[in-house]
Amino acid sequence: MINCNYDAIDENQFFLTVAGEKHQANELTLNGLAPRVQLAYDTYLNNFPGLCQQPHSLFAADPQRSRDALQDCYGSPTQSFKQFRKDYSARQHPAIQELCPYCMIETGWTLDHYIGQTAFPEYAILTKNLLPCCFKCNQQKNAAWREDGEKVFINFYDDTFLQHRFLDATVLIHNNVPVLRYQLIQPAAITDEDFALIRRHFLALGLLVKYNNKAHNRFSTEIAAIRKSIDRGKSDATIRQDFLDRYDSHVDQYGRNHWETMVYLRLANHVPQVRALPIP
Ligand SMILES: [Zn+2]
Repeated sequence: MINCNYDAIDENQFFLTVAGEKHQANELTLNGLAPRVQLAYDTYLNNFPGLCQQPHSLFAADPQRSRDALQDCYGSPTQSFKQFRKDYSARQHPAIQELCPYCMIETGWTLDHYIGQTAFPEYAILTKNLLPCCFKCNQQKNAAWREDGEKVFINFYDDTFLQHRFLDATVLIHNNVPVLRYQLIQPAAITDEDFALIRRHFLALGLLVKYNNKAHNRFSTEIAAIRKSIDRGKSDATIRQDFLDRYDSHVDQYGRNHWETMVYLRLANHVPQVRALPIP
């Protein structure tokens, strides 16, 4: 997992620009709402924990047409918003251009509202509220962005603990077949609060089970490759170093908490065990 790049634009100005591109009736409505939208933006950008505790949208009691006008900024995008979306992917790390940051499994994503726009229409085009998300994660995410006043999902703009490894895996041998089982571990550099968030994120998206399944085939393929290397006379130390090199390059590309990095790291440390297994 790695962070997404947030292009810190002037969000208030962006809202006014989009409002100015709307047809006259909507433009008037949006300009009338702008001072309260700016208040809402200020809370989002400067006091997100406070927002997690805020019971409702600032516009919860507004007429439906006002709420619709806010959502319409996203639903019927203007030129500026289309341009933002068009440029978004190119500003991201290559791994994010390829994979959904929430799961790091699925390719292909669309920009998704971290806080759903039905409940909080004021954040419909707040760019800080828009994150890449695949279809599957989006469905599992649904509208549940908070629970008991705490975030449920890692925020890939703001949460800076992704550089520390919290994803771990253990090699288990079942009927002479090695399998990988993923788990979360709390390194000293990650606070209890952040680790609880990581747990909520993984639980909500069922990531450990997905990684167990995903690694299954990869693990078998890699073990078959180790057997070929052994047959060709490669030493354990050489095979181990090959896996460590692949681990390093994978970390560089996908971060320390990508499921595949653990395949390489664990195999690097289990070459003698693989050598000792009976040939199937
Ligand atoms: Zn995903």
